[in-house]
Amino acid sequence: MTKPPLTLYLAAPRGFCAGVDRAIKIVEMALEKWGAPVYVRHEIVHNKFVVDGLRAKGAVFVEELDECPTDRPVIFSAHGVPKSVPAEAERRQMVYVDATCPLVSKVHIEAERHAENGLQIIMIGHRGHPETIGTMGQLPEGEVLLVETVADVADVLVRDPERLAFVTQTTLSVDDTKDIIAALQARFPAIVSPHKEDICYATTNRQEAVKAVSPMADALLVVGAPNSSNSRRLVEVAAKAGCGYAQLVQRSGDIDWRALDGIRSVAISAGASAPELLVNEVIDAFRDRYDVTVEVVETAVEHVEFKVPRVLRQPA
Ligand code: SF4
Repeated sequence: MTKPPLTLYLAAPRGFCAGVDRAIKIVEMALEKWGAPVYVRHEIVHNKFVVDGLRAKGAVFVEELDECPTDRPVIFSAHGVPKSVPAEAERRQMVYVDATCPLVSKVHIEAERHAENGLQIIMIGHRGHPETIGTMGQLPEGEVLLVETVADVADVLVRDPERLAFVTQTTLSVDDTKDIIAALQARFPAIVSPHKEDICYATTNRQEAVKAVSPMADALLVVGAPNSSNSRRLVEVAAKAGCGYAQLVQRSGDIDWRALDGIRSVAISAGASAPELLVNEVIDAFRDRYDVTVEVVETAVEHVEFKVPRVLRQPA
């Protein structure tokens, strides 16, 4: 039977960013150096496929430090951790490696610097996301206030409207964040902005690529995990950019073929924690059903690479 024609537009850049790549390498390096088990506090990156792969090699994923024995190394995830976590690891004399993305650490340092200058901080982020918990946890309770939406800005209770700064989560929607920043600046004209934008290059570039590709296609699939903030933002960006159907899929098995019935073109992107192998799996699933032509839509070229840190200490 002849397959119907279909154009697949591949958004570029997509998939792994430098921070995710580095965090995964840190776990692999720790397993190589110390053997299994190596403990990882929280999913090293938000992707089940990556986590399952590392688990098979001997990584044990836990949510809290007290779930780790003191005689095995523990790695902190790319999202960052509150200051209390490494402090507790030190108190317990544990070996730990911090896989926090350097671009998240940059926001931590920024928040601390503002606090040293006597400023209270407003963080734009998602409540409960590990990155938000980690950034807010760089300073004592009450020093960082969270806003999630433009509406929150009207309600936030600050100590002194003249002594404020804001920081943001690195994986937010660029456009939604602009609106929240505008609301903050309107209510608190003296608020200090980040020296350089906190939303990271990978988030920005993937959103730009999705914006460019969305109007070209009948549908857009984002390969990524439901708990991956940057992946979920890509789906929202596609919908806002006029794509009639945008769906998050973890693997090819999640594709809703009935919803795609009759389409002639599909755009594909992937969140910063989704491996290219899963993108290829999705492309292959389309090839099974359609006569596929692939076109790459590239809006930026990335050369960012982060060094893997040296390990802190040998286990006792
Ligand atoms: S999405 Fe951005 S902040 Fe998060 S790990 Fe990747 S480069 Fe770092």
